[in-house]
Amino acid sequence: MLPFARVSIIGLGLIGSSIARAVRQYMPTVRLTGHDADAGVREIARRIDLLDDVADHAGAAVTDADLVILCVPVGAMGAVAAEIAADLPADAIVSDVGSCKASVAQALSAVLPAARVVPAHPVAGTEQSGPEAGFATLFRRRWCIVTPLPDSDEAATIRVEDFWRRLGADVERMAPDHHDLVLAVTSHLPHLIAYTIVGTADDLQQVTQSEVIKFSAGGFRDFTRIAASDPVMWRDVFLSNKDAVLEMLQRFSEDLSQLQRAIRWGDGDALHDRFARTRAIRRSIVDQGQDDAAADFGRRHD
Ligand code: NAP
Repeated sequence: MLPFARVSIIGLGLIGSSIARAVRQYMPTVRLTGHDADAGVREIARRIDLLDDVADHAGAAVTDADLVILCVPVGAMGAVAAEIAADLPADAIVSDVGSCKASVAQALSAVLPAARVVPAHPVAGTEQSGPEAGFATLFRRRWCIVTPLPDSDEAATIRVEDFWRRLGADVERMAPDHHDLVLAVTSHLPHLIAYTIVGTADDLQQVTQSEVIKFSAGGFRDFTRIAASDPVMWRDVFLSNKDAVLEMLQRFSEDLSQLQRAIRWGDGDALHDRFARTRAIRRSIVDQGQDDAAADFGRRHD
């Protein structure tokens, strides 16, 4: 039996539209409704037939739902939860896909009954945004981290986990704080570093003119993909996961200083040891199926 029969998606961008497409593909009998604050996005959603019904107001999109998934930027979660609270059926479960979990858990449980709130984070995405950027297979063989609150109903949590498995994801449960610490290292800090490097190179470009772009295949190009990610989404991530990101940034700065010292003093062994360790990490990511082994991220060279 399917875990849910009537799913409502609020926020129809990359993640919301990917969920809609995946539900259509893997659970075609589910009735899909949804809403986006942006009238242009609603218009596109109707044109591409993303859902069975696109509502002009968030409340109208949830009146009949047994699962509501909030797919808006992390900073907007609390406001959207408040907007739907009065129209939510008594037995509906509310989940979300936000990239930070402690702040979202707090925002949702402030306005909704905690037993019916089951936050989650599919660790899958691209640097693109909007309803046309989504695709049905985005979550396949990617992790979805489910972070129930102490008061979340266990049966509701199991249904949300079942939902994500049916979309192709591998599911793991975590406490919201622990999620935020892990993701600060694996996702938030790398984005901050990419935003910094690309910004620094852009400043430098005033001096070197087009050389930064011309020779970007030397490594810079891979940072530019991450640094092209949605500015609103990432602004909210850093403001919401402030403590964990600052803690990881402190450790990163200390490690960077050590490498700086090794370069200054010609300590080749220290550099070689560090680079050998990091190469092994890349190998284990590929071995665990989280990336492709193809050279240069599978780019064509013909
Ligand atoms: P997106 O493509 O920009 O889509 C977000 C959509 O939500 C936009 O259409 C936006 O409208 C709409 N929206 C904003 N505030 C709203 C509100 N108050 N009510 C209704 N709709 C509203 O972003 P996304 O990449 O799908 O990200 C959505 C969520 O997924 C975020 O919480 C993010 O942290 C999480 N997430 C993202 C990724 C990723 O790689 N992108 C991965 C995992 C999780 P506008 O046109 O006004 O912006």
